[in-house]
Amino acid sequence: MKIDDTIVAIATALAPSGLGVVRVSGKQALEFASSLFRPTQSIRWQEASSHRLYHGWIHDEQSSPVDEVLLTLMRAPSSYTTEDVIEVQCHGSPMVLETVVRLFLNQGARLAEPGEFTQRAFYYGRMDLTQVEAVADIIHTQSSLGLKTAVNQLRGNLYHTIMQVKKEVSAVAALVEATIDFTEEEEIFTDREDCLLRLTPCIETLSRLVATADQGKRLRSGIEIAFVGRPNVGKSSLLNALLQEERAIVTNIPGTTRDLIEETIQIQGLAARIIDTAGIRHTKDEVESVGIQRSRNAWEQADLVLLLLESSQQLSEEDEELLRYTNPENTIIVINKMDLGQSNEMEQWINTNSTFDSIEISAKEHQGIEALKTMIFQKVIGGEVLIQEETQITNLRQQQAVEKALSALQQVKHGLENELEEELLAVDLRSALHEVGDIVGQTTADDLLNQIFSEFCIGK
Ligand code: GDP
Repeated sequence: MKIDDTIVAIATALAPSGLGVVRVSGKQALEFASSLFRPTQSIRWQEASSHRLYHGWIHDEQSSPVDEVLLTLMRAPSSYTTEDVIEVQCHGSPMVLETVVRLFLNQGARLAEPGEFTQRAFYYGRMDLTQVEAVADIIHTQSSLGLKTAVNQLRGNLYHTIMQVKKEVSAVAALVEATIDFTEEEEIFTDREDCLLRLTPCIETLSRLVATADQGKRLRSGIEIAFVGRPNVGKSSLLNALLQEERAIVTNIPGTTRDLIEETIQIQGLAARIIDTAGIRHTKDEVESVGIQRSRNAWEQADLVLLLLESSQQLSEEDEELLRYTNPENTIIVINKMDLGQSNEMEQWINTNSTFDSIEISAKEHQGIEALKTMIFQKVIGGEVLIQEETQITNLRQQQAVEKALSALQQVKHGLENELEEELLAVDLRSALHEVGDIVGQTTADDLLNQIFSEFCIGK
């Protein structure tokens, strides 16, 4: 990574809007800005205060005005990248923004790669890898809980937890290394009890992170819910009730929901992608059978299945077949059309099938919808979410890194408990420290880092 050059990019969306920002970072940011910006009140650039807004005009090489702007100056090291940073607030015109970028390029700046501003912040140690990932999550989140989780991570919750673990593991490693260095002269043995006392809470912390990984990932990325049920049971109506708008086509001819309909809604702050599947009935209609196959696939991949039954009717053969397929662990039985009353068979079924979570609703009359949302949230997130203070893993990379660190620490613990020689303990400890460092990006391979940053947008 070349760090000597000065980078420039448009930092806001490229569409006509009120404001647009061009961001510049690097050693020559001030120098380039000083030749393009004509301040309303003269500035002595050498002494200009940091973290101030300056009003003026951007001019091109022919001294023609390009736009009236506000320029923000953030001197190193108190900036996003820790380098000198200039942000030019222009009018949000793609033409203006592109022109301003071109003028900086003509001065000698280079167009930033995707994520390069954040990459510099990481490179200079202002952010760890989990905070970098949190920046991307904040930009892309679709729900209020996703946002809270990302903000917690940006504030460094996960980073500080991991650094505390690293501190303890380093202390144990130091004790073991000291023993290796001194045993020949004096009789010093590692205090294994003390080492275990230090390591056990670390193992507990990492175990808890792994145990709540699914919850964290769901808070961040949302969940997928498949609606399953025979035609006419009310799947589209329930989708509409949840969306509170008439998005799906509702008819009373069985088999009209031929393809998958997807919508994203928020359920108590959680992003939920809802897939309204085609009825899973036996059919000779080719188009419909393709739809049915897709439904099955969606159903198998979903985090949660809502299986709809009809309150006033007996269970049909088709209902029975669907029930055989479903796993109570990830299914809620939604008994719809409660406004039409309840058949004796249905009442009996509810009484004898307590392994399934079930709820009665009327999609048409909007009854039981809020209670259903609460049940969905409880089922996929489980218990109370203490996300204000809670530290969580939010993606697969973090989960895999924590799992590796955990297994390395368990190996050390096993060695301590089984009188493993100090030299071998030291090897395991070094590998554990490496794995712990990997969680926050301290020992992460360059190609993986590059891949993470390449998924950012330009200007971030
Ligand atoms: P889908 O084939 O499972 O998607 O079922 P639809 O949502 O298209 O609903 C089929 C029919 O049942 C429509 O005529 C709906 O108006 C009706 N329906 C859906 N939910 C309810 C409900 O809660 N109560 C009553 N009475 N009718 C409903």
